[in-house]
Amino acid sequence: MKRFGLLLFLLLTSIAANAGSLQINGVRLWAAPDSTRVVFDITGQVEHKLFTLDGPDRLVVDLKHASISKALVSQLKSSGVVKGLRSGTRNKDDLRLVLDLSGPVKPKSFVLKPNDQYGHRLVIDLFGVGKAKKSEPKTIKVVKPTVLRDLVIAVDAGHGGEDPGARGRNGVREKDVVLGIARKLKTLIDKEPGMKAVLVRNGDYYVGLRKRIDKARKHRADLFISIHADAFRDRRVRGSSVYVLSRRGASSEMARWLAARENAADLVGGVSLDDKDDLLAEVLLDLAQTATLETSTGVASRVLAQLKRLGKVHKRQVQHAGFVVLKSPDIPSILVETAFISNPSEESRLRSRKHQQKVANAIFKGVRNYFVSNPPAGTRLAKRSSPRRHVVRRGDTLSHIARRYGVSMTSLRNRNRLKGDRLLVGNMLTIPSKGG
Ligand SMILES: [Zn+2]
Repeated sequence: MKRFGLLLFLLLTSIAANAGSLQINGVRLWAAPDSTRVVFDITGQVEHKLFTLDGPDRLVVDLKHASISKALVSQLKSSGVVKGLRSGTRNKDDLRLVLDLSGPVKPKSFVLKPNDQYGHRLVIDLFGVGKAKKSEPKTIKVVKPTVLRDLVIAVDAGHGGEDPGARGRNGVREKDVVLGIARKLKTLIDKEPGMKAVLVRNGDYYVGLRKRIDKARKHRADLFISIHADAFRDRRVRGSSVYVLSRRGASSEMARWLAARENAADLVGGVSLDDKDDLLAEVLLDLAQTATLETSTGVASRVLAQLKRLGKVHKRQVQHAGFVVLKSPDIPSILVETAFISNPSEESRLRSRKHQQKVANAIFKGVRNYFVSNPPAGTRLAKRSSPRRHVVRRGDTLSHIARRYGVSMTSLRNRNRLKGDRLLVGNMLTIPSKGG
């Protein structure tokens, strides 16, 4: 008996000694507006515990049988809520890390197994507390003020932070180029009278897929655009594609809302589904969803038409898929795969600011063309009478348009800085006022 105990003791200490070799060999910080993610690269799977302290605010992380080099600790620059990192040894071979914080947080932690980019990781999310706003109580407005609103577009740069997305042979990362395009697109939208853009992600951090949709809804977005860059094992594959939600994706989503019916009222214009029977609830949801999908497809085809001018498209038709970010039942949503980052020439184009601007221009034109022709009620676009706009259709000529609006061809040319009489389908012309 005694002998067995000793054996067990020896066995345990040898496991401990083995585990003692765990080394932290990397630390990354990703600051999002409402949270900060801290990622530790570790040479193996680690056991950990964490707790917070206040006055001053700190997060303490205890790691079993682990160590970290002083150099790595001092390298960490402050970011988000994290001001600094300190380390110490406990129980001979355990590690205690202390993160100095600029305010109180709610921490959440989990470990990740190795993937093709990283090894074992410990991820700690620090959610800010105290600043969180309570959602407004819902009230039904009887009298609606007739103030016209801006059309709101949620621009979503895919991936971010610990999730780099696709990566090109020469190291161009999807998360970086799509953020570049998203920011340029926002600038274009904000310059357009009657339109306003919201960036779903505005930095190098990750936002959960459902959270991206929530953010768009919080801003009452009229459209959600997710921007990505594709990758494929065949490096020759190239070109852009535009996606909307597939019918199958839509019906699986329907099942989800029906399951959580009390949350679904917002989706069908504030009608509570709680007291409706299954069939009626389904019909109401289906109506909302069908209208949303129609708008999504309309916008997607206008955007695709503009991208076709920019270069080769991968798919000439609007594609359908069950991507989570497309699943808003009430917000028309499209996903643009701008190019194949796995194709070397498209990779280098994506890296160039000039090309990013061109892609942003194309998406912008497509979106604007759709909403100028189909402005949602209550928006400034719906009431915009002067200056009038005309989106060029197949078969239009300058003289036709001039006659239709009762203006001269010269004023039309001057107002739009046209050199000749050639018109491009999908371009938007500003119609000069009749006097000038
Ligand atoms: Zn992507």
